[in-house]
Amino acid sequence: MITRVAEQAASVLDGRIRPTHGYYRQPNKWIKPAVTTALEELKYRREGWEPLPQYGRFDMNNAYAADHPLELLLINGGAKELCEDQIRQQGLHLHPPIVPTCRRALTQNHPLHNPVCWIGAEPVKLPQLESMKDLEPFICRFCDRQSATDQGREQHESVMHRAEKGNIRTGETLATSLTKGLAGQGKGQSQDQSMTLDALTTLTKEITKLKRTRTRKGAKSTVSV
Ligand SMILES: [Zn+2]
Ligand SMILES: [Zn+2]
Repeated sequence: MITRVAEQAASVLDGRIRPTHGYYRQPNKWIKPAVTTALEELKYRREGWEPLPQYGRFDMNNAYAADHPLELLLINGGAKELCEDQIRQQGLHLHPPIVPTCRRALTQNHPLHNPVCWIGAEPVKLPQLESMKDLEPFICRFCDRQSATDQGREQHESVMHRAEKGNIRTGETLATSLTKGLAGQGKGQSQDQSMTLDALTTLTKEITKLKRTRTRKGAKSTVSV
């Protein structure tokens, strides 16, 4: 451990490793990783971003790092910096990120975590959740996928279930027009017609119900941090 820290410090002094990214708080309170060179930092400051150098620097040049942009913040105890909106929008309340126990930044010296890094790793604790309300996920009306927001669910449904959504719409239009057509025939309708009308009313209700159904089975996590 001590050797590793010493090595890392030596590399930094040598200029051998220069992690490029660090954290900023944007004007909307979201925490975002971005380039931390003097020039970039100045540019961001002018845009109202607040640098948070206390959470360290890292490299963001591989897919893992890009998929886990908040990892070093969380490793270094920065969970408390996240605002409620970011937690909600990114679904962190549904799937709290698991942070590696190596507690190391991704840099040239440690470009990726290895299996040992994950021994004993646990989901990060978000103290904000205690005071947050309405944390229930939005569940897809066609499969069990959970989304953190209503917009997320809409987007998932329209991409993954376009055909089903289309079918529901078609069925709905058909049922509505048939119902109107039959009802429009007014008095003197035969028993058959009135039974058909009942059936169509039921169908319309079923379609409405189907659209509102929210199953609550387990779902896969697709959110990563
Ligand atoms: Zn590691
Ligand atoms: Zn779905």
